Amino acid sequence: MKWIGRRGSSNVDDRRGISGGGLVAGGGIIGIIIIAVNYLLGGGNAADLPQVLQQGQPQQQQQMPPEEKAADDKRAEFVKVVLADTEDVWNKLFQSQGEQYSEPTLVLFRNSTQSACGSASSASGPFYCPGDKQVYIDLSFYEDLTNKLNAPGDFAMAYVIAHEVGHHIQNLNGTAGKVSQLRQRLSETEYNKYSVKLELQADFLAGVWAHHAQKMNNILDPDDISEALNAANAIGDDRLQKQSQGTVTPDAFTHGTSEQRMYWFKKGFETGDISQGDTFSSNR
Ligand SMILES: [Zn+2]
Repeated sequence: MKWIGRRGSSNVDDRRGISGGGLVAGGGIIGIIIIAVNYLLGGGNAADLPQVLQQGQPQQQQQMPPEEKAADDKRAEFVKVVLADTEDVWNKLFQSQGEQYSEPTLVLFRNSTQSACGSASSASGPFYCPGDKQVYIDLSFYEDLTNKLNAPGDFAMAYVIAHEVGHHIQNLNGTAGKVSQLRQRLSETEYNKYSVKLELQADFLAGVWAHHAQKMNNILDPDDISEALNAANAIGDDRLQKQSQGTVTPDAFTHGTSEQRMYWFKKGFETGDISQGDTFSSNR
């Protein structure tokens, strides 16, 4: 994706420098072990240990090796440009329907953080929380895409962000709320079908975004769409959910087959037409 030198969004809450109770690599570990040992010798309850560790390291700046930090900062810059591109596209598409788009905030965190939907960990994977209208991403997911999910390429990450912003659109237009109301009325199996449709529509909306972002800002490199399709393919299985240990319900990447996910992203990308994204009445 062509992103260097382009506008980055200011709707970013960068919490990467703040310890959310996650343990810091490097010199910090020794200190933590000492705190832990002292605590255990003092006869405390081991179950309270994480809290003690948090108190021992309040809001501490995390230490990263300079090279790693530079790479992490570069990823943050990239993500901000992608978010800015989603703002450009959705502001325009909402305006064209006589409506105003309310831009979501992107929270960048490392290890763990709090959201209105519960506490998030890097293992949760990226997700959108409707309660605070924020997208949460630990940038280490970028490496997971490449190394664990075999979906390399910057546009794979752009697709993931656009998919989460798609959930924001569904929250704004009431689709997500309608589906969530069904949860109480339907059996889990029945509800799951709607949940799949919601996910596929977020993929469609990511495709619509790519279509218009290309038109407006000429963002695409030749391999980008295959990177996104490959990512849609790679995360159409259970891998992410298996890795999840946080208390947040992970984004339901597991729902929808790889074929379905690719189909809807592609449809959004090729048409750029929001009105063609009714995944709920489609058999696909
Ligand atoms: Zn999703």
